[in-house]
Amino acid sequence: MTVRTIEAKTLLAGHKTPDSWFGIKYTLNLYRGCQHHCIYCDSRSECYGIADFDGEVLVKANAVELLDRELRSKRVKGYVSTGAMNDPYMPVERRLGLTRRVLGVLAARRFPVHVMTKSDLVLRDLDLLGEIEAACGGVTPGAVVSITITCADDALARQLEPAAPPPSARFAAIAELAAHGICAGVLLMPVLPFIEDDPENIRQVVTRAHAAGARHVIPSWGVTLRDRQREHFYAELDQRFPGVRARYEQRFGGAYSAQSPNAPALEALFTELAARFRLARTVAPYRAPGPEQLALL
Ligand code: SF4
Repeated sequence: MTVRTIEAKTLLAGHKTPDSWFGIKYTLNLYRGCQHHCIYCDSRSECYGIADFDGEVLVKANAVELLDRELRSKRVKGYVSTGAMNDPYMPVERRLGLTRRVLGVLAARRFPVHVMTKSDLVLRDLDLLGEIEAACGGVTPGAVVSITITCADDALARQLEPAAPPPSARFAAIAELAAHGICAGVLLMPVLPFIEDDPENIRQVVTRAHAAGARHVIPSWGVTLRDRQREHFYAELDQRFPGVRARYEQRFGGAYSAQSPNAPALEALFTELAARFRLARTVAPYRAPGPEQLALL
C-alpha cells in the first residue's frame, strides 16, 4: 500500500449540536484510505470520492498546523473525534505519529477528545490522553476512547478485519485505558447479518467489555451497503463465506440498510446485559467543568 502526503485546506468539521450516539461536536480526518482493510468498510462508498481506498493512504501533512489555527477560533468546547472514515491508529501511524501530534495540540488547547479506533496502538498515547483528561475532565470525561469490536473471536475477526489487531488485543487495550482512568468503551458495530448476529457473540463482546472496565457499549444490529462498497463486500463474502452473499441478496436486495433478522432478540439481550453491567449505550456530549470544579482541579 503506498503512502503519499497531501496538503489539506481545512481540517475540522463542526456540528451544530453534538450527535446523539457519540457526543461528537467536531470531526477530523488525518488520513484518507485505511490500512485495516475491513471487508465491510463504508468509506469505500462512491460518495466519499476515495478512488483507491485499499491501495493508497493519503496523509494530511499539515494537519497539526491547521488544527492549531482552526481551534483558536472555536469558542464552544466539545468532543473532537478522529476515526470516522479511517483509523487514526492504522499501522503507518506508528511511524508518522500524526495522531499523537494532534492529541498534543488538543492537550495544549484544552479540547476534549473522543478517539475511535480498532487498534491497541492507542496505548502509546496514554500520556497525552491523561493530560487531556486532567485538563478537560470533571463533569463529563475529557478523553474518551471507543474501540470497535464486532466479534469476540480472533479467528473470525481476521476474516472480517484482516489487518486490524485481534479483538483479544482490543479488550486488553480497554483494560489498560480503564486502569489509567481513561473513559473507554466499545463500538459494537457493524454486526454483520448471518455472520456475527448470534446471541452468543453479543453476550461475549458485552461481557468481556464489562470485565475489561468499559463504561459504554454502543451497538448497531446491522450494516449499511451501497454501490462499490457493496460490490467489494460481496466479493469478499464469496471468497471467505461461500453462500452468504445469496442470503444477503435474498433478504436485502438493493437496500441501503441491512439489519439483522435477529435484531429484536439481540436488542433484548443487550438491554438486559447493559442494565446488569451498568453500561451506557451512548456517549453524552461534553460539558466543561464549572469554575468551582476548575478550582479543585
Ligand atoms: S478500521 Fe474503520 S476505516 Fe479502517 S477499514 Fe476498518 S472500518 Fe474502514
